[in-house]
Amino acid sequence: MKKIFDYLDCLEEELISLRRDIHQYPELGFTEYKTSKKIFNYLKGLGLEVDMVCDTGVIGLLDCGEGPTIALRADIDALPIVEETDFEYKSKIEGVMHACGHDGHTAILLITAKLLVKFKNLLKGKVKFIFQPAEEGPGGAKPLIDAGVLEQPRVDKIFGLHIEEGIETGVIGVQPKEASAAADELDILIKGKGGHASASHQGVDAIVVAGQVITSLQTIVSRQINPHSRVVISLGKIKGGYKRNVIADKVEISGTVRTTNPEVRRTLPKRIEELVRGVTLSQRADYSLDYNFGYPVLLNSTTLLKEVEDDIVSNPLINRLKYLSLPSMGAEDFAYYLKKVPGVFFRLGAGESSRDYYPGHHPKFTFDERALKIGVGLFVSLVLGQLD
Ligand SMILES: [Zn+2]
Ligand SMILES: [Zn+2]
Repeated sequence: MKKIFDYLDCLEEELISLRRDIHQYPELGFTEYKTSKKIFNYLKGLGLEVDMVCDTGVIGLLDCGEGPTIALRADIDALPIVEETDFEYKSKIEGVMHACGHDGHTAILLITAKLLVKFKNLLKGKVKFIFQPAEEGPGGAKPLIDAGVLEQPRVDKIFGLHIEEGIETGVIGVQPKEASAAADELDILIKGKGGHASASHQGVDAIVVAGQVITSLQTIVSRQINPHSRVVISLGKIKGGYKRNVIADKVEISGTVRTTNPEVRRTLPKRIEELVRGVTLSQRADYSLDYNFGYPVLLNSTTLLKEVEDDIVSNPLINRLKYLSLPSMGAEDFAYYLKKVPGVFFRLGAGESSRDYYPGHHPKFTFDERALKIGVGLFVSLVLGQLD
């Protein structure tokens, strides 16, 4: 064990420079051509079997003979954000930024592969390294699974992690069951009747109707859902109207619906539609509504978590395994893998307690780079625990 961690110390500099290199050249979902090429070449250089999947996904396989197959996943995409940090390694691509730490996830998984290759004589089984595109949308996990990444060899267990600047470096956070919310898309079109603003009775003002729809929708969460259930309905976009003296004939409203209970989730499209129908009918307006189920709830395997607990707490780089009582209401498409195979998604503490950090998706987002080595250590402990 000591040898492994000594070698990891030697790799820390490379780990940080890999992260900074990826940080400078961020790419959006399904356009990660340069990033995936770098990953492909790096894994090839390690002597792994490497495949490309869904254009920009990269799968590496370390085959150490008979035994189970453990998959480790990193997401590799960035966000359409103009970076506002003043690091010398800030984004060189205008309007694109690694503002969610996926640069770190990618570097962690590359160095994990390098380290496991070095100590492959200790392993009995296979390790599949999944570098997944488009986690920030439209979602890379599902197409990768459909393309067969969990087969040949069949993956028995899967692990993933996310950098969390809100958790202290050295601490690994984990939710024992629900870890991230389901995220669904809601689009509503309110159809009114245009006219002169001075003769409002002759038209049907879609803006007034939209106002009522928006306000009423919030009563689903506050009045119709059990307060112990977690539901968020946020309408992030509204568009309508032409001019101050024209009655708007239509308004478009788009939003997101977050839930952690699959049964409550199933009831929401109907509740929302009933409410929109009732409000628009009462105002002589009409509507159309699209409800699309997006990323599912991320459900960690409680049994597997118990199984790996000792491997984590005995890791010298990890100060503490912290059980988080509440799931994140954010969404994470790692959830799709967990619908197929047991696995656990960890929160990699990456914040110094003495510092304030801008959160993920902020133009000034950053994290404590000392966490990168701990991320590698976590993955290595998990694999050794399973394949030793
Ligand atoms: Zn994100
Ligand atoms: Zn993320």
